[in-house]
Amino acid sequence: MRPETLCIHAGYEPENGGARALPIYQSTTFKFDSTEHVGALFDLTAGDAFYTRLGNPTTDAVEKKIAALEGGVGALCTSSGQAATLLATLNIAQAGDHIVCASAIYGGTFNLLGVTLKKMGVDVTFVDGDAPLEELQKAIQPNTKAVFGETIANPALHVLDFEKMAELAHSNGIPLIVDNTFATPILCRPFEFGADIVVHSTTKYMDGHAVQMGGVIVDSGKFDWAASGKFPGLTEPDESYHGLRYTEAFGPAAYITKARVQLMRDLGTCQTPTGAFLLDLGLQTLPLRIRQHSANGLKVAEYLQQQKDVESINFPGLPSDKYYPLKQKYLPEGTSGVISFSIAGGRERAAKFIDSLKLVSLEVHVADIHSCILHPATSTHRQLSDQQLIDCGITPGLVRLSVGLENADDIIEDLEQAFAAINA
Ligand code: PLP
Repeated sequence: MRPETLCIHAGYEPENGGARALPIYQSTTFKFDSTEHVGALFDLTAGDAFYTRLGNPTTDAVEKKIAALEGGVGALCTSSGQAATLLATLNIAQAGDHIVCASAIYGGTFNLLGVTLKKMGVDVTFVDGDAPLEELQKAIQPNTKAVFGETIANPALHVLDFEKMAELAHSNGIPLIVDNTFATPILCRPFEFGADIVVHSTTKYMDGHAVQMGGVIVDSGKFDWAASGKFPGLTEPDESYHGLRYTEAFGPAAYITKARVQLMRDLGTCQTPTGAFLLDLGLQTLPLRIRQHSANGLKVAEYLQQQKDVESINFPGLPSDKYYPLKQKYLPEGTSGVISFSIAGGRERAAKFIDSLKLVSLEVHVADIHSCILHPATSTHRQLSDQQLIDCGITPGLVRLSVGLENADDIIEDLEQAFAAINA
């Protein structure tokens, strides 16, 4: 089925007389008839939901829907996008290991990999995703376990060169993990371009209404962990499951099964049943919304491009954008509603511009139906040094505008009066 149909139907099929809408199983636990059945659950030979941290029928339906949309073998919902990135990396990297990551990424991911995972013994090298393959290869070490990047980087809006990054990863026997949050599987399906694992902050366009935190990890099922020989956590016995080997027991679903039964079991960063229901509701209209966000984004970007107060603009949907050729290749339908642009005069004028807006609201958020704006240098990315900011593609006057689903002309009129205010 096509994405629009999957968004409505995948993951849940009502029985005769069953609820048409996905039911919320607001229960932490489930009842069983025999100790034998419960024993099988703990041996991983039976797959029913038995405790909501590890699985719940509402969450399961949404996971199946997202796996179908991305074209993967399985998915795992998490409590937030941060939790998805944490579990996705820890599932294959441990103390003494190393990750290579494109430096143009979300500030939270930069901190997670560069600060917290580092403290836990997982080292990271940030690289310029635009560098040639031979240059990127120099960052790979014998202990490197993954290459990480974002389809459309937040907030720099660089577009990932999938084929180059996939080649970098695969020629070194390691997977490519891609954060596909801004694109969503409607605008880009990273598995088709060589990614092995996808993560999302579902808090963004997937939910789309700013009501529910969440994340998801999706496994393509294509990476051959056994052939690589670099992933003992997947190929060697897990003592916490009586010596089970994930690759032997679960085949192509080894990675996503391990993430659930080992890491979600131990770290507990699960989605809630009501959260999963709200995410499902958002997913049902995702194709309509993301296409309209992209169209509104393009109209606003075209307007901004002509303003004398706009020093520079990043929007990969503009033909003048540096990433337009990659956009045409990987995101032909659009690039979402997120635009970043630099206001001439730096920090102070950017702040005045934001404070003058009436319809577009100042929020620490992005990618939902309401238009909103943020100044990364003083908010999401304020912990980063000037050099780190530049590495992430951020200048002092840069603002990130998330174009919502209001009428684009109303958004443009609001921007217009704010430009007039900074020049008054
Ligand atoms: N990845 C990207 C691209 C993001 O924009 C964000 C949040 O803004 C995250 C991950 C983290 O997601 P969450 O806020 O749901 O933890």
